Parts: sequence; structure tokens; C-alpha cells
Amino acid sequence: MKVIGLTGGIASGKSTISKWLAEHGAYIIDADKLGHRVYESGTEAFQKVVTTFGEDVVGEDGEIDRRVLGSKVFGNEAALKQLTDIAWPAIKDMAQAEIESILEAGQHDLLVLEAAVLIEANWMDIVDEVWVVTVDRETAIDRSMSRDSLDREAVEKRIDAQLTNEERSAHATVILDNSGSWDELRTGVSSAYKQVITTS
Ligand code: ADP
Repeated sequence: MKVIGLTGGIASGKSTISKWLAEHGAYIIDADKLGHRVYESGTEAFQKVVTTFGEDVVGEDGEIDRRVLGSKVFGNEAALKQLTDIAWPAIKDMAQAEIESILEAGQHDLLVLEAAVLIEANWMDIVDEVWVVTVDRETAIDRSMSRDSLDREAVEKRIDAQLTNEERSAHATVILDNSGSWDELRTGVSSAYKQVITTS
């Protein structure tokens, strides 16, 4: 069973591709979901966040209040780096543990780690192949504006804060371009899927 790291920019089509792969038997690990559990009380990351950002990030329920934490890092590059330096290695450990248990169970043809920050967070070494979804800038802007109800400026800000298609593609085993139609995407994903299944 191969382990694929699936990455791409905002509204590139990662979730759409994961859904298609899941329907064809792949097991999906969503790094965003792991990210929601990474600072649970009792974890090492929880302690580090409290030590770094102060007791006031802990809410009444004893968990990290993401809004308070978010306000501390918003627009502050150094603080954001402190936070990702805590979160990313911890999420990587969680992902690796889940990968190992799924591989051991051996019930799936393919394992996919869907992660917007796969490359930035340096998680490439826990996957066998990196699949990069690319989309042209204007299409990403249109799709994100309509999905997320954001204005153009907000979307452009997010895109500019991320790696470019070219930077991601430099790490790719497979590049899936999703600037076209649903059918074109399905054809590309289906062929990459067949290829990886027959070589694993
Ligand atoms: P990501 O998970 O990378 O943020 P999504 O898979 O959610 O991206 O796709 C972003 C948006 O674009 C969604 O609303 C999705 O339905 C839409 N979308 C994805 N691929 C296509 C396509 N080929 N044609 C039209 N819309 C698409």
C-alpha cells in the first residue's frame, strides 16, 4: 500500500480529489482534522502553547481557545512561526502514528495524507509520493470566492501567503492540474490512481 501526500493551494481541489479517492477505496487522513486535536489538554503541544502564549489562551473549558490564540498570532509572522513550530511536528507525529496503524491493518489499496502545508511543514518524508494539485490563479480566486464567501482581496492575500504552484510542483511525484472541468480532473485523478495502484 502506497502512502500519498496530497497538497495544493487554497481551493485547488484537494478535498474533491480526496473524496474521489475515498470513493475508490483509499483511506484519507485529513491533516486539518488532526490540527483541531493537536492542542488538546494533556498533550505536549497544549503545554508548549500555554508556556509560549500565556495562560489566557486557555478557555473556561480547560481547552485552548482558538479565537484567543488566533488573535495573538494574527498578522504577526514571528508569533505564527512559534505556533507552527509547535503544531507541525506534533501533527506529523499524529499522522505518522495513524499511517502506521492503517498500514498494519492492511485493508486499503491506498493511503492519502491530505495536507495543505505538506511541504511547508516538512512532512514529505512520511509519504511515498507527493501529489500536487495546481490551479491557475484566476480559477482559484473564483472558486474560493464562491465557496468561502470571501472578497477578492481576502482570497488574494491568502494565495500570496502560500507557496506558488511552481514551488509545490518542484516536490511533486505527480502534478494534477485542476484549472479545467470536472471531467478533466476526474480523468487525471483516475489515471494517477491506476498508475499508483498497479505499481504498489
Ligand atoms: P481545496 O480542498 O483544495 O480547498 P476543494 O476541493 O474544496 O479545494 O475545491 C474548491 C472549490 O472548487 C469547491 O467548491 C469545489 O466544489 C470546486 N471545484 C473543484 N474542482 C472543480 C472543477 N474541476 N470545476 C469546477 N469546480 C471545482
